[in-house]
Amino acid sequence: MAINLTYTTLSLRRDNMSRRPDDWLQERMAHGVGVVPVFGQDNLILDGASPQGVVFEGETARTLLGGDRQVVLLGTEDHKPVFAVSVDENEAEAIVGLANGAEFMDLRKIGSLLPASDGHLLAHARGMLYWHSRHGFCGVCGAPAASRHNGHERKCTNIECGISHFPRTDPAIIVLVYRDDVPGGACLLGRHARWPFGMYSTLAGFVEPGETLEQAVTREVFEESAIDTTDVVYLASQPWPFPSSLMLGFHAKATSYDISVDEEELSDCRWLTRDDLSQMKEWHDAKDDEWRLPRPDSISRWLIQQWIDQKA
Ligand SMILES: [Zn+2]
Repeated sequence: MAINLTYTTLSLRRDNMSRRPDDWLQERMAHGVGVVPVFGQDNLILDGASPQGVVFEGETARTLLGGDRQVVLLGTEDHKPVFAVSVDENEAEAIVGLANGAEFMDLRKIGSLLPASDGHLLAHARGMLYWHSRHGFCGVCGAPAASRHNGHERKCTNIECGISHFPRTDPAIIVLVYRDDVPGGACLLGRHARWPFGMYSTLAGFVEPGETLEQAVTREVFEESAIDTTDVVYLASQPWPFPSSLMLGFHAKATSYDISVDEEELSDCRWLTRDDLSQMKEWHDAKDDEWRLPRPDSISRWLIQQWIDQKA
């Protein structure tokens, strides 16, 4: 089974980046340096027929590493360190000017069109800097928390507290539930009222403390649809830094079939056959009044395709 999900193509060596000392960094930076700028939650992207993420190099990169910007060492590429750097609103326009034709944009709008390694790199940078932007203060005592270890930790500056905080990602299950009791089978998809017209997706939800992933799948599906499940099988995962999730993808078999929608969670939920799915448009192709599949960079779309292909 090929797994080529967006945001999963590792472009850098990431091992031990929190433990690299300054002299190691200085030695590596003699070979070059890359800087991925992030403004708020937006990445710098050269749009067009073949969109690309912008990675500054040379003197521009070295300049961006200075000042009081938040810096995170993401990893190395051919021994060259690559950093994520936060950009504030006073300098965003000037930085756009350094990359001819580029603009700061929401990665979600364009992620699936980027080269795979660019998508992963930009998602990584965005995710790390989002964490810093939300953890300026200690969650225990409220004192400022300072970045250290190349941006892989924030330590409380109150010496009586001094606790360390580490980058976090929130595990969320996402599941295609299928039934085999009808000819050709069917799968369970739902939609939120805030989504574009006619978009249906697999069910998803956050894992709670003290819960296995399989229990989270069973609980979320039942809460949202009143469908009972069994045979919960893990297939793949996808970082989803919008803002800070790790999506864990499953298939699960239904053992009951009468849907009762939790209207606080979903506006609709229904069984769809492979024929139904073949009538739905891809995300980018759908007109405003047409039913559509989930966005192409999502693990939801991938889980649906896995189920469609099982029949082939
Ligand atoms: Zn503290």
